[in-house]
Amino acid sequence: MNDSPLALLGGEPAISVPGPHFAWPPIAETDREAVAAQLEAAVSIPDRSGVVADLEDALASYLGVRHIVTTCTGTAALHSMYAAAGIGPGDEVIVPALTFHATATPLFHLGAHPVLADVDSRGQLDLSDAARRITARTQAVVAVHLWGLPEDMDALASFADEHGLMLLEDGSHSHGATWNSRRTGSFGTAAAFSLNGPKPLSAGEGGFVATDDSELYYRVLLHGQYNKRCRREIPADHPLARFAVTGMGLKLRIHPLAAAFARAQLPRLDGYLAGRLAIAARMCEALDDVPGVYPPYVPASARPAWYALPLRYESAELGGLPIRRFLDAVHAEGAVEADLPGATCPLGTHPLFRRPGALLPGYAGFQGPVAGEFPVAEHVHATTLKLPVWHGEDDVRLADAYTAAIAKAAAHAKDLL
Ligand SMILES: *Cc1c(COP(=O)(O)O)cnc(C)c1O
Repeated sequence: MNDSPLALLGGEPAISVPGPHFAWPPIAETDREAVAAQLEAAVSIPDRSGVVADLEDALASYLGVRHIVTTCTGTAALHSMYAAAGIGPGDEVIVPALTFHATATPLFHLGAHPVLADVDSRGQLDLSDAARRITARTQAVVAVHLWGLPEDMDALASFADEHGLMLLEDGSHSHGATWNSRRTGSFGTAAAFSLNGPKPLSAGEGGFVATDDSELYYRVLLHGQYNKRCRREIPADHPLARFAVTGMGLKLRIHPLAAAFARAQLPRLDGYLAGRLAIAARMCEALDDVPGVYPPYVPASARPAWYALPLRYESAELGGLPIRRFLDAVHAEGAVEADLPGATCPLGTHPLFRRPGALLPGYAGFQGPVAGEFPVAEHVHATTLKLPVWHGEDDVRLADAYTAAIAKAAAHAKDLL
């Protein structure tokens, strides 16, 4: 196949099956039944009962944490987590400079300051850069398990300990991923997850907060689950109980139909992740000798959820061929799901992070990041090519076809120069 000219230059494409080639989440008969049954049972649940309780119990036992609060989105879960952790005006929270913006944006709605820290060449939080950014106002550091590859949680836990910071997690890419056999989302004082459409565990739209800390749990409830749920769950003799009716005034509950969908998906998650691990390993092996393309390094302690497989593109090894042109060639070969990361990008490039004061009055004097302040995040972003990770045995041929398409584009890179 590598002998045929590039499809971009008129040759036979490596993949002839037309796309799309990847859809998520997989929808089974049990999902349809669960959602249909929920439609009859209840379409609004004001307390912790029915499918909301079922899903929260199942997630608590899956992660090995005491409390789960489901929410309408992952962004809402992050907002509730920060609010419940007591993050307030002027407080600083260290967030990796390379993530999806919602890891940090809720902080702007608490008057707090996201302090971006650069990542290392693998895209993980650079702890020495993070350490340099700590001030007397720093309250917490956020671990983001980007693309489902767990952060080094031993290093992060000791970093947080050493500096007296709260460790929080954004597990939105990493449902079911483990570090030393322990699930991401169970390391921090609290963790927030998205259950949005393409995430490893999906409700369509949804999210949740996980924590072992009962005080923090009550505050998560007060932040976004006011009235009945707060009245029933915060003990009457607790000093916060008198706020139960209004909570903090926001309503961020999950939709019961979304909860039913996620509850039906959850028992299949581990099977999907095992399938992804096998296919990701196979793709990495197939790409091992391909010039210009580097599979991610996976530490022995990490068992990723592979929300996507991030490959590092070294244009210098392919005569300086720009990544865009390489991707065009890969697409022309029929590997239409290969992509560059879009919204998951260096946060300092977003106008909101540069000049939050333009939209949010409390931030008039806020000095955002300056151009070039996060060189590694920018480099990693500019050199990442991502592939979907399939999970089924029927998908192996497609995965092989994708790696063959990439190998072909690399083998013929000189034709594109
Ligand atoms: C998707 C995502 C979010 C936001 O979740 P929504 O459910 O879309 O609100 C936050 N952080 C990360 C890392 C994400 O990938």
